[in-house]
Amino acid sequence: MAVTALVSDFFGGCWSLVKGLDVTLRTMLRPAITVQYPTEKIPMAPRWRGVLSLEVSKCLSCQACVRACPAKFLSLKFHTGPDKKRVLDSLTWDNTMCAHCNLCADACPTQALAFHHDYEIASFTREDLFHDLAKGKTAEVGDLPHGAAPGAVATLAADGSAQPLTPPEQAP
Ligand code: SF4
Ligand code: SF4
Repeated sequence: MAVTALVSDFFGGCWSLVKGLDVTLRTMLRPAITVQYPTEKIPMAPRWRGVLSLEVSKCLSCQACVRACPAKFLSLKFHTGPDKKRVLDSLTWDNTMCAHCNLCADACPTQALAFHHDYEIASFTREDLFHDLAKGKTAEVGDLPHGAAPGAVATLAADGSAQPLTPPEQAP
């Protein structure tokens, strides 16, 4: 009886060793799938929405995008030129709150707005995520749709609009 158990244990151990090595060998023979980021990058899906961008020459300053945004994370300023046409001054976009729903781009009659495929959009400061799409640079905080002060965060009101919060009180 003891000999039978010993033999059974021996073959059981051999079988688990073979099973374990089988997994190891099969994994070793598969091509590597690790992406050596950042030297290697995978292409994003065609409908991936990274950063919103504006083709300024196509913009009519019609504000259709601003009206389409469900939470008002876009804000547009324009002036009227000598030919009575609107001239875009700024179109600010808050990437900290944007839902990337694409409703603004869908509403644009001239396809001036589109999401790019960038995904390296991490930032050390909240302000870096406020974009002035007309100037292709970080937006002035005062131009933001919700008028957030530096260090403040916006929140959603019950009607879905963005509301500024006052900056957190500084510790003494
Ligand atoms: S993607 Fe959606 S949430 Fe973001 S700015 Fe456009 S409409 Fe607003
Ligand atoms: S909807 Fe298009 S054309 Fe109109 S203001 Fe927005 S970006 Fe410009």
